[in-house]
Amino acid sequence: MDKLLHGTAADGTVRVMAAVTTQIVAEAVRRHQTSPTVSAAFGRVLTGTLLLGASLKEFDRLTVKIECKGAVGGIISETTAAGKVRGYVRNPQAELPTNDNGKFNVSGIVGEGMFHVIRESGYDIGLYREPYYGSVPIISGEIGEDFAYYLAKSEQIPSAVLLGVLLQKTEPFVSAAGGVMLQIMPGANEHIVTMIEDTIRHAPQLTSFVREGATAQDLTQLALGEIEYSILEEKPIEFACNCSPQRAVALIGSLGKAEVESMLREDKGALMTCGFCNEHYRLGERQLQEILDSFDS
Ligand code: ZN
Repeated sequence: MDKLLHGTAADGTVRVMAAVTTQIVAEAVRRHQTSPTVSAAFGRVLTGTLLLGASLKEFDRLTVKIECKGAVGGIISETTAAGKVRGYVRNPQAELPTNDNGKFNVSGIVGEGMFHVIRESGYDIGLYREPYYGSVPIISGEIGEDFAYYLAKSEQIPSAVLLGVLLQKTEPFVSAAGGVMLQIMPGANEHIVTMIEDTIRHAPQLTSFVREGATAQDLTQLALGEIEYSILEEKPIEFACNCSPQRAVALIGSLGKAEVESMLREDKGALMTCGFCNEHYRLGERQLQEILDSFDS
């Protein structure tokens, strides 16, 4: 099971979030049928969203939305405070040749654009508060650096973010995925900051550790080196969507009576596909007729 850890170090002046997301990314890749380079980009965004979510307290739904000019066209990732995550990719099959060093050209497939963070709270208890919005330009397209840039510019938190997805040629196509986010809080000791920078600079590729079985705790230790830390929370995380047959019916109904009548007359049914999980919902004539009857009652 994938896990997300939230911890603290150096007398609370360093916040650490770490996650193993291999199963989540594999499920996202399976559902959206993404190309290898898109899988790498998408997996990093899903992982980064979970890490960012672990560092924030006040939200019910956190959305990271990448609007970009590269071939992928856009990526959306959404997490709940309970650690469920889902996502959408505009062009799942977009692809580019690998870089000279054999790495996936993630920054190339993302390209220029904007990195948005939307934080919503209260909607599930009917106490809807104004959502919080933060936006920065995409500065790297490698995703990890973009999360770090967002934190520095929009939340004034210096941070280091490592995100990785390791792919394989056979199913489930994802052999390891995970990430670490370190946030430096006000009052952090210069010496600690230098130690962290040093450790991160020399840190080996984190996904190869995950493939060998490293846990979220191991990744935390890897990022912090000699610095001791304590765990505030460690929880299971999963790819999950809140769509359902009932929601599909409600959505069709919201299109209006005329639209439903024409679906019934011309198509004898309706097919809905959830953008976040690629689940299909097929409504037959009887179901469409029931929706129409509900307009009259
Ligand atoms: Zn769905």
